[in-house]
Amino acid sequence: MRVVISGVAGVGKSTVLELVSRKTQYDIINFGTLMFEMAREINLVKDRDGLRKLGIDTQINLQKKASNAIGRMDNVIIDTHMAIKSPKGYLPGLPEWVLRELKVSSYFLIEADSRLIEQRRRNDSSRSRDEDSAEAIGEHQEINRYFAAAYAVFSGATVNFIENPEGKPEIAADNIVKRLMVVD
Ligand code: AMP
Ligand code: MG
Repeated sequence: MRVVISGVAGVGKSTVLELVSRKTQYDIINFGTLMFEMAREINLVKDRDGLRKLGIDTQINLQKKASNAIGRMDNVIIDTHMAIKSPKGYLPGLPEWVLRELKVSSYFLIEADSRLIEQRRRNDSSRSRDEDSAEAIGEHQEINRYFAAAYAVFSGATVNFIENPEGKPEIAADNIVKRLMVVD
C-alpha cells in the first residue's frame, strides 16, 4: 500500500512523519529528495528549494522520473506536496501521470494555523523558505485541500485532514497512525 502525506512548508510535516515512522512498518519516501538527487546529477540545482523555481517542463520531467521510481515501491508513506508554489502558479504535485504511477490508497494533509506557520518559517534558517504572509500561506493551505479533493476523485482514495497543534506533533502523528492501522 502507498499513502501520501503532505502539508505546506513549515507545517511540521517532518516532525510528525518522524513520529509516524517510529510507530508503523512503513518506509518514508521523500518525493522532493528523489527529484533533487535526479536534478543534482545533471547540475540543474544546488539545493532542494531551487526545484520549484525551475522551468515547469523541467519540474514535470523530474516529477515523472521520481513517480516512476516510487511506483515500484510497496508499503511506503510518500512525503510530498499537493500543490507546489512555482513562479508560474500552483503546480499540481500529483497530476494524472503521477497518480497512475503511484496508485495511492489514502491522502493525509497536515494543517496548522497559518500565522504559526509564518513564524516557524522565519525561525528556520536551514532552508530557503518563501517569505509568504499568513494570508498567502492560508491560500496555499486552501489550494492543497482543493487539489487533494481532485486527486481523490480521480483515484478513489480517501482523504484525511490532520491538524498539527502547536507543540503537540504527537497528536497529529497518533491520528495518522490510527487511520493507517484500520484494516479493510
Ligand atoms: P520538501 O522538502 O518536501 O519541501 O520538497 C522539496 C521540493 O521538492 C519541493 O519544494 C518541490 O519543489 C519538490 N517536490 C516535492 N514533491 C513534488 C511533486 N510531487 N511534484 C513536483 N515537485 C515536488
Ligand atoms: Mg520537511
